[in-house]
Amino acid sequence: MPANPTYRIGNAEITRVPEIAFEDADIATLFPDSAPDSLAPDAKRWGPRHFDARTGKLRQSVHAWLVKTPAHTLLIDTGAGNDKERPEAPALHRLDEPFLARLEAAGASAADIDHVLFTHLHSDHVGWNTTWHDGRWQPTFTNALHVFSKREYDYNAALAEDTALAERIRKKADLGPRARLPSRGFFGDSVQPVADAGLAHPIDINETAFEGFVFHRVPGHSIDQAAISFTSNGETALFWGDVCHHPLQVRHTGVNSMFCEFPEAAVEARLWALGYAADHEATVFTTHFGGGSVGHVVRDGDGFDWCFSEGDAA
Ligand SMILES: [Zn+2]
Repeated sequence: MPANPTYRIGNAEITRVPEIAFEDADIATLFPDSAPDSLAPDAKRWGPRHFDARTGKLRQSVHAWLVKTPAHTLLIDTGAGNDKERPEAPALHRLDEPFLARLEAAGASAADIDHVLFTHLHSDHVGWNTTWHDGRWQPTFTNALHVFSKREYDYNAALAEDTALAERIRKKADLGPRARLPSRGFFGDSVQPVADAGLAHPIDINETAFEGFVFHRVPGHSIDQAAISFTSNGETALFWGDVCHHPLQVRHTGVNSMFCEFPEAAVEARLWALGYAADHEATVFTTHFGGGSVGHVVRDGDGFDWCFSEGDAA
């Protein structure tokens, strides 16, 4: 695993908690509507931690962010989790990773976490919400309020129960054509148990302020994805979830991943998030970029470019 520095944003300390590294993402598979030949030359520009020039594959990561502020000890998203049945996603299937030991190494125990903030409810962002004990899935962060979009919760609950409500929620969201559904299974084993334990705090994502963080609407990748900002002493951190899966999408803003549910909205949200990050000179904490996964967005003519933070280049 790459080095794991702690970043200071105002009065907050932010540390990556690694879970898994993907070394062999195929460009044409990850970005099915793209022209891979036009992306591959650009993929080299961020160095070998993000592209394997020998195989032509992209390097990526799945991780969580530990954020310590004077008031709180929080996690942003919780990775894929151990022991989860994910036969449709072999890379996430029945994992056995020492994530909680890595969390301790980053400076917090599971019991220390007082809030978990979610960019969205997909299987690789909610997995460590629960661990398997005594024959059932039980909350991992038992002292934490789990804060997520009410619309995402209602939508995934309706899909899990196969009710007509899902279609009504989609209509109301009005995000244009639907390309895919979220994967199955994670709601029952990773989200519902947290709600059953009284640890869920569903919110309306609409520039909503919560304990010093702001949830901004960036739907498309999922039905109600949030980019979560934190500003302190004039510095801004932005946790943008899966607005981009690889820095290639910062330069090629029209390219969606194979996991984006509503393609048109995903492009619109990407442009908004890139503009926000550039205009606020935000330090962006991504979920799936390789290396340290942190950097900045800069404007480049009519478009954007991505610079990894110092120490994260080749
Ligand atoms: Zn993801």
